[in-house]
Amino acid sequence: MSLPSQDLNDRLSFTGLDSQLDELTLEFQQNLHRLAVEVLRPIGTELDRMTPEAVIAEGSPYWDVWTEFKKLGASFSLLYSLESLQAARLMSVMLEELTWGDAGLAISLSVSGTPWLLAHHFDNQFLLNNIPEDSIGCWGITEPDHGSDMVDFNGVAMSPGSSQSRPNCIATIKGNEVVINGQKSAWVSNGTVAQYSALFCSCDRGNGLEKVALVVPLDAKGVTRGKPLEKMGQRALPQGEIYFDNVSISTDWLIAPVEQYQQVARAQLTEANGGMGMMFAGLARAAFEEALNYTHERKQGGVPIIGHPGVRSRLLHMFRKVEAARALARRNAEYNMTAPQPELLGSISSKITSTQAAFEVASDALQLFGGNGMTLEYPIEKMLRDARSSMIEDGCNDVLAIKGGSELAQGKLHS
Ligand SMILES: Cc1cc2nc3c(=O)[nH]c(=O)nc-3n(C[C@H](O)[C@H](O)[C@H](O)COP(=O)(O)OP(=O)(O)OC[C@H]3O[C@@H](n4cnc5c(N)ncnc54)[C@H](O)[C@@H]3O)c2cc1C
Repeated sequence: MSLPSQDLNDRLSFTGLDSQLDELTLEFQQNLHRLAVEVLRPIGTELDRMTPEAVIAEGSPYWDVWTEFKKLGASFSLLYSLESLQAARLMSVMLEELTWGDAGLAISLSVSGTPWLLAHHFDNQFLLNNIPEDSIGCWGITEPDHGSDMVDFNGVAMSPGSSQSRPNCIATIKGNEVVINGQKSAWVSNGTVAQYSALFCSCDRGNGLEKVALVVPLDAKGVTRGKPLEKMGQRALPQGEIYFDNVSISTDWLIAPVEQYQQVARAQLTEANGGMGMMFAGLARAAFEEALNYTHERKQGGVPIIGHPGVRSRLLHMFRKVEAARALARRNAEYNMTAPQPELLGSISSKITSTQAAFEVASDALQLFGGNGMTLEYPIEKMLRDARSSMIEDGCNDVLAIKGGSELAQGKLHS
């Protein structure tokens, strides 16, 4: 056995404890890391300090991110043309690297594929023919009066005896026409810039309220947008309401029949939470790397603070959380890409693990930066804000844990 190299960077670099990244994945990772360092990190920092209106204005650097990302040639159809395990690996490497660069921009780029991906999952040829793969998409599910209610698509997190208030968005289906009225909340990621929305809302077919999932082209007559949302974290991510005033489209735009709503909602939450797991392992890693480097530079007591055992021990706990989050995220991605049925339980577990790790590691990093961590000179305070948002995004972790627990309640394992 050879002795370990003295230089930690030679041993781990940004692949961490990956033992067997093949050549294609490594090359892809290096290109993505370059994009993260040269484009996403600096532009994300710049956008973080701009107003939400300026972020999406013509000429904003936000649009350069799209241009540069497209140059990589990464697409879902390319991904799905690969062998499943390799696709899972590439996907997790991609989402981790993008979020290493900037969480808000990574969400903007990744949520964009939602309408196309749902069309692909449900093998909906009409949608696949009508949604350009490189268009900007979004997922409109949250409503002003329905946040956790909507994520809890099968009602397992609700208190017994509770009932839901009136929906804020209803799609009325008559014959082959869908007429949509109402609104989605200001939290819709890409809501202010998207061209297509996967819309999950209530539906009226004349037999009481049901739920439906469809795609709406956002240039349809009667669609308007709200004011870009001002918020604490992920400020580079454009968010805002989408309003529907008698928006009429054909039932061809339904992702699946109304009767399959629960399956669509389950598939989407599994995909979205799995993605969050891969992404926020990247933010945890970014905060850890910043902290490790800083502790080699900052001197106290006459030595770099890495010389103090308490600092080393804190860093070890940060490192193990990063690696645990990455490992679960990749394991879940590999399972979901290869198993006959993707597993919501795994995706929820990965989402909670990574977002919790990102928050804890960013908070520990801020501690190691001391007062400097609180200032805009260093990236840590932004990472902490971005990580905090992720614990609410795509279903708050409290409700997701109840949902995951309810999956476990469905049966015992056989020995
Ligand atoms: C950065 C970010 C991006 C987002 N992107 C999107 C997007 O792309 N599309 C979209 O539609 N939405 C999006 N959302 C909205 C997100 O899905 C909701 O914020 C989330 O589902 C929680 O809903 P809420 O904010 O209305 O909180 P509420 O549902 O009002 O819940 C508030 C708190 O009450 C508690 N709580 C509520 N219900 C229960 C329960 N049944 N059991 C236990 N505790 C409960 C929880 O602690 C919860 O945090 C995003 C949110 C954020 C922060």
